[in-house]
Amino acid sequence: MLGRQWSSPQRPPLNPLATAGLPLNTMKAPDASSSPRPPHSTATSTIATPTTVSPQHPICKRHSLEISGGVAESENAPLSLHNKRQRTKSGSDPMEPIVPCQDNSAIASTDCGLKDEMEQLEDDDNYLDSSEEEAEDEFTLTNNEDEESCGEDDQSVISCVTVGSTCSLRSVASEALNTICINENGVAANEDGSLLYSEAPAPSPLPSLSPSLFSHVPPAINFCQYNEKTVEFPLAIGRLLKWRFTNITPLIVRKTVANSGYRITKKTLQWCGTWGKHMKSPCFKAVRDFQKINHFPGTFQIGRKDKLWKNFVRLQTKFGKEEFGFIPKTFVLPGDVKALKAAFDKEGVKKKWIVKPPASARGTGIQVVHKWSQVPIDSTVVVQRYISRPYLINDTKFDMRIYVLVTSFHPLRIFLYQDGLVRFASVQYNNASTSLSDRYMHLTNYSVNKSSSSYTHNVDAGQCQGHKWTLKSLWGYLKAKGVDTSALWSRVADLVIKTVISGEHDIVVRSRRNVRSRYSCHELFGFDVILDERLRPWLLEVNISPSLHSASPLDHSVKGPLIADLLNMVAFHIPDKLSQQQQTSFLGDFNLGDQVSGLCLDRRLYTRLLTPDEQTKHVKVNSLTRNEYLTSVIESLTPDDVRHLVTAEDEMHRAGKFTRIFPTAETHQYFGFMEKPRYYNRLMDAWETTYCNSREKAIERLEALCAEKYHLRVPQAFKMPKVLCYRQLSSHQLGKLSSPATLPNQPLPREHSPTQPQTVQPSLSQSQEEESYPSLSQPSQMNSNQIIPNLSQQGPKKRPGVVGKRKWRPKRVAHTLKPAVVSSYLLVRGLSAGHTLMEEEEEEEEGEEEEQMEVVEGETASVEKSDGVERIQHLKICDGK
Ligand code: ADP
Repeated sequence: MLGRQWSSPQRPPLNPLATAGLPLNTMKAPDASSSPRPPHSTATSTIATPTTVSPQHPICKRHSLEISGGVAESENAPLSLHNKRQRTKSGSDPMEPIVPCQDNSAIASTDCGLKDEMEQLEDDDNYLDSSEEEAEDEFTLTNNEDEESCGEDDQSVISCVTVGSTCSLRSVASEALNTICINENGVAANEDGSLLYSEAPAPSPLPSLSPSLFSHVPPAINFCQYNEKTVEFPLAIGRLLKWRFTNITPLIVRKTVANSGYRITKKTLQWCGTWGKHMKSPCFKAVRDFQKINHFPGTFQIGRKDKLWKNFVRLQTKFGKEEFGFIPKTFVLPGDVKALKAAFDKEGVKKKWIVKPPASARGTGIQVVHKWSQVPIDSTVVVQRYISRPYLINDTKFDMRIYVLVTSFHPLRIFLYQDGLVRFASVQYNNASTSLSDRYMHLTNYSVNKSSSSYTHNVDAGQCQGHKWTLKSLWGYLKAKGVDTSALWSRVADLVIKTVISGEHDIVVRSRRNVRSRYSCHELFGFDVILDERLRPWLLEVNISPSLHSASPLDHSVKGPLIADLLNMVAFHIPDKLSQQQQTSFLGDFNLGDQVSGLCLDRRLYTRLLTPDEQTKHVKVNSLTRNEYLTSVIESLTPDDVRHLVTAEDEMHRAGKFTRIFPTAETHQYFGFMEKPRYYNRLMDAWETTYCNSREKAIERLEALCAEKYHLRVPQAFKMPKVLCYRQLSSHQLGKLSSPATLPNQPLPREHSPTQPQTVQPSLSQSQEEESYPSLSQPSQMNSNQIIPNLSQQGPKKRPGVVGKRKWRPKRVAHTLKPAVVSSYLLVRGLSAGHTLMEEEEEEEEGEEEEQMEVVEGETASVEKSDGVERIQHLKICDGK
């Protein structure tokens, strides 16, 4: 059996269901007129029974010719020297050369017509610089030498129809997948016949804001897709929406945010969002309360191959391979060299290993080995058991790119995206030791395989053809084979949760130390998962900057909605730089309903400060058993509880094609894997257990509290943001506001008067802000009754060591510029709100510095300086400059 290659028609059914003669999920093709097929797609095979399934696939032409008894046209196909050489070397039967389907050649020409640089970038995950490695934390782990390897030869074989873990997540995944099938044309479709990827972009602009489910919670920016538009914002709002450009911001993100109202710029400290590289943890301190970045501190704990394994093996040692057996056994060299040698000696040359750099990507520096002499024992590498019997589709190896979004680590909220990518090797698989050097056979990275002459593009997201499929097409394909895709997806969800949990403690600790606001962080992970011949999923690695570069329609079909859904779910608010009056004045234009009282970010919603009562509740709940806390924790909700639940409900409401896999009513099963019980996880557990089947009741209960602004009751130590008021410029441009700016729900500062020049409100100094930051070691003295502090009492603060020269100043104040001058300047510069792509950036950036002159900032010079210093550090890291 070992190494035996089955051609598709011969391959035995993989699932008992298939042999039992159960009906397959096949269906008729939809009416062609209602769902026009993409021009390049072909679909010839019809699914009848499991053993005759032949959707189009990486070598579809050859395969369909075999079936039809036709002559392989592939003989005429160009064959790379590399491939010829490898095949001869391997000693295996010379493979039939892989010929692109006719359609695919057309596709290839379209595709290859794309810019080289895009080609270069597509599907390449970003490297995690070794410089990003942070000091080793408290976990010092070694491989347990006595442990048996968790290679795919283990006896603990689990049927593909079981979940294979004590943690059952069936309910999580099945819904999204159950409707997918392959129609009679071999195209992935829904049960109702509609094609999966037939959705056309919205013909007219979409609403620019998306209201919350709850009263007195500001709306979020509504992100459309890269090929859609939202209604343009009024200038005074649009000019606040700045997206910070970094060198690695993918084009699809840039298009999405630009079409949704943001202006992309390199030079501003007032940016609202950015999509960049991972940073060292202390740099997160520079992220301000109104800014969002696409990382959490410390996620290298799962994003680096060596750290991932160390965290994983800690849990494996504690909970056993039944729970933590989904990463192939790994050794981190040079530390684990003796253990690796012992494994080599024990297992002999029959076993294969894969050697990888610990923090690299794109298949760089990877080789498959089977002899000790091939292992670079002095190098810093990870050596992993090679999955030598992968599940093959038409004799070709593939892996899956699964997208996972974490919106919060405390409470832990994990979302699994319903779609993803399936990446095929470009040469048919062969288990012989002599073929190990063929990267086109053993590696599935696009970056590697794109240079293979046999690589075939697939532009039709619904087709099972070419060397890249969508995950949904794979589900359709597997389902047609009789595979229980829901069970498989549940196992993937299980693997994802456990992996995230393996790094959770460190990330929570780092976030608490370095991140000011709950608003600031979210992270998209790319999980690379491979299936073995028994359809067990194995985690190969986690990418913390998964590639979002999209060079083909197939990529766009997956990554376009992914990015829009992600940005919608994490909820970007308009920065809180408009007065309440301005907000009220604009509200009518947006038609958001009566319960929306403000347009801008309300930082109270995201504060991490707790009242003493809330702190006491946390301590108490953490000491209870599950049965005890299930009722008690939600019996009486604190304002802080409500804020968390409101965020979670709104997030679910905007989840699009993301499915929340943690928390659910079932996921308390995973609490045991965590370092310690956490209050918010328990709160969410109780909430889900109570309301998972009656969402409306949950929302009603929260709404009743929000209507009374209960959720906005924050501890006394909470400081309202510094005033960033737009002065006459906004008024002038709006032509309707004459009164000065105020903070939402805040009494006017004493010195603030409509007739006087705008008074600037000071902000907390950096150190003060950090002091007021909740810390486990420092119980805060907060008064739950006082909601909003009166900032007018606080004059501009000097920081120690700051002398007269660099004192607080309302620098660059607006009154130095006449409104008319400014507005005509803006007109001349052509600055407009949002809807501006980077192509225009160079010109715009010149205006950026000037534009900040319109803002009266209530910051002390010393804070600005200090902040600036941190910012520079931050930008350097973000941009790799
Ligand atoms: P990179 O970060 O460079 O992409 P990966 O760990 O994802 O590194 O490995 C690259 C490719 O090598 C994978 O896409 C997969 O095809 C193959 N691969 C990696 N590890 C294994 C393994 N343990 N068994 C089988 N194939 C593997």
